[in-house]
Amino acid sequence: MDKDILLEVKNLHVGYKTHIGISHVLKGVHLTVHKGERIGVIGESGSGKTTTMKSILRILPSNGMIKEGEIFYQGENILEMKYEELLELRRKKISMIFQDPTSALNPLFKIGQLMLDIIKHSYNLEESEAKEMALKALRDAALPDPERVFDSYPFQLSGGMRQRVCIALALIGDRELIIADEPTTNLDVTIKAQVLNLLTKLVRERNVGWIFVSQALGAVRENVDRVYVMYAGNIIEWGPTEKVFSNPMHPYTQKLLECVPKLTGTEFSKGIRGRIPNYFNPPSGCRFHPRCDFVMDECKKTFPEPVEVETGHFVACNLYRRR
Ligand code: SF4
Repeated sequence: MDKDILLEVKNLHVGYKTHIGISHVLKGVHLTVHKGERIGVIGESGSGKTTTMKSILRILPSNGMIKEGEIFYQGENILEMKYEELLELRRKKISMIFQDPTSALNPLFKIGQLMLDIIKHSYNLEESEAKEMALKALRDAALPDPERVFDSYPFQLSGGMRQRVCIALALIGDRELIIADEPTTNLDVTIKAQVLNLLTKLVRERNVGWIFVSQALGAVRENVDRVYVMYAGNIIEWGPTEKVFSNPMHPYTQKLLECVPKLTGTEFSKGIRGRIPNYFNPPSGCRFHPRCDFVMDECKKTFPEPVEVETGHFVACNLYRRR
């Protein structure tokens, strides 16, 4: 095994049981994060990004089913970890920042109580040492008046401050991997940039691994080393950020990037015709085929194997298999 690999997701298949049947969401997802590497995951809403992230931490809702696959963290299969090992992993190694800071913080406890609970459990510290660690984390997250924040309930803080608290919690101690799932989606437009700048600054300074899930394609392009493109539960293209953004090869990636508003020109994007498929009965073969302008017969039968089109840049599309 490559010792530099922090996280490796292999052939992950995940579905959800519902009263009308099983929705087959992820189909063979794979993803690798090296130590200190910053990864972006992009794709439309409903493409399976959040399901992938929740599977990594084993926090899927109770009807979620991991049907197949492996998720290795420094060589240990997370899916086979005992409950105590999993808690240890979540407390000390991997943390996740969610879209909605309001639901991520228990409204019945003051911020200080929430932080002390996590710190004392994770690091076995005295109350005063734990408090100092919590205040430092709040200061690092650029929260003005950390003592007041420490003594506040979540509802007494603005949305931006609550998300900063979540960032502080995620970066406590010596975390090795931070998963940020659309961390600015629910914030006012005026503070989105501030929170994102803070997060990217802290991730760079601490040299931790980072998975940045976002539909803000410009922010992804600026802030990650490699990017994965997801469509309907599959990774369909991945590679070094600049290669994927400047030379998108998969028809879906091309359409997705065309949707980014341009500062020059008069043409508006037409968007991508059709919609993400129904996961109860997803399309056979390439799941993008009902929306693809280049669909061929073979696309409806078998899922295309990925092809390396330039160094480190892979595409799963039959157009490139034919070369
Ligand atoms: Fe389109 Fe076929 Fe490529 Fe899928 S495999 S994106 S349907 S050309």
